[in-house]
Amino acid sequence: MTDFSLLTKCVHSGNYQDETSRGVITPIYISSSYRFLRGPEGVCYPRYYNIPTQKAAAAKIAALEKAESALILASGMAAVTSSLLSLMESGDHAVVQAGVYGGTHHFVASEMSRFNLEFTLVSSDDPADFEAAVQSNTRVVYFETPTNPLLHIVDLDALADLAKRRNLTTVIDNTFATPINQNPLDHGIDVVVHSGTKYLGGHSDLCCGVAASRQELMSRIYETAVNLGGVLGAPECYRLERSLKTLGLRVAQHNRNGQALAEFLQTHPRVRKVYYPGLPDHPGHETARRQMRGFGGMLSVELDGDQDAAFGVVERLELFAHAVSLGGVESLVCFPCLTSHAKVSPEERAALGIGDSLVRISAGIEDTSDLIADWKQALEG
Ligand SMILES: *Cc1c(COP(=O)(O)O)cnc(C)c1O
Repeated sequence: MTDFSLLTKCVHSGNYQDETSRGVITPIYISSSYRFLRGPEGVCYPRYYNIPTQKAAAAKIAALEKAESALILASGMAAVTSSLLSLMESGDHAVVQAGVYGGTHHFVASEMSRFNLEFTLVSSDDPADFEAAVQSNTRVVYFETPTNPLLHIVDLDALADLAKRRNLTTVIDNTFATPINQNPLDHGIDVVVHSGTKYLGGHSDLCCGVAASRQELMSRIYETAVNLGGVLGAPECYRLERSLKTLGLRVAQHNRNGQALAEFLQTHPRVRKVYYPGLPDHPGHETARRQMRGFGGMLSVELDGDQDAAFGVVERLELFAHAVSLGGVESLVCFPCLTSHAKVSPEERAALGIGDSLVRISAGIEDTSDLIADWKQALEG
């Protein structure tokens, strides 16, 4: 397909041409048994990730991430674990950013050693600190940017350069940015994974994950993913593909709302600090400007007063539900100290900058002025 722009790819890439009915959308093929066909395509079977509904969604993701190939998996964690387990052999070592998603952190810290896989956690955004953790048996560098919940930014070009010099494979979790705001493969990163449960699905009604890369690496991930079996069923693959058609439109509004809320909250006397890469005083702002087309819908705010006061503000919000997860059309808020970092000790949390009255905001796609008015009344109520 011609290299169309992202909005066009969202609508058209990967669409399955249904010659039977001539319908314009991809059909949901729920068959788990397919007639045998001699030829290079081989056997069609859901767990082989090759039924047409799965392939259509995968082709759309591959086009959006500018990857040669992609897989749709049953969850973000299925994408993370299938990627890490396929790219490492017994005795290999991974350099892993300490601030990665809690589930990923848990897998790395509590499961990898069972497979004789080693790791070093890096509590820094500085590429030099990633490099300092590289050992002779290091194979993989695993990271996120922006991170949860303080939106730290890691320089994609610098990590790709490090990986080329030291012959490592880089894996990024691109969930917060989405392919609309950031294409890591363009910067030389090797593998992109997503929790599709967030922005890709985008309507808080779907659990899925994706992995995308060049064919050589996807073939390795594919072999392991078939054995691990974390495939997504056809109805959900269809729902993902349908959601992706509006991804570009949704993310544009998430970006507008994230930026507007950050700018408003930064000026409010009841807010101590705002963390958003779109603000010029954010430490990663310049890097984010170079590698992102938009700064996203995720931001965090340190509210004035103690946690009870912060709870009061959150309870007064009308449009922002106090709920976990992120990336849906509806706006949400949560307390990272009670959710993603609940198991981290108060001292460690303080060292990370995650205070008791830090509120994470997932800006939805509602009208911008309604969202700002809601925060204004909640802060002043
Ligand atoms: C939610 C999330 C995951 C895990 O995704 P699931 O779909 O819940 O398995 C991984 N990475 C990030 C950044 C996430 O936000």
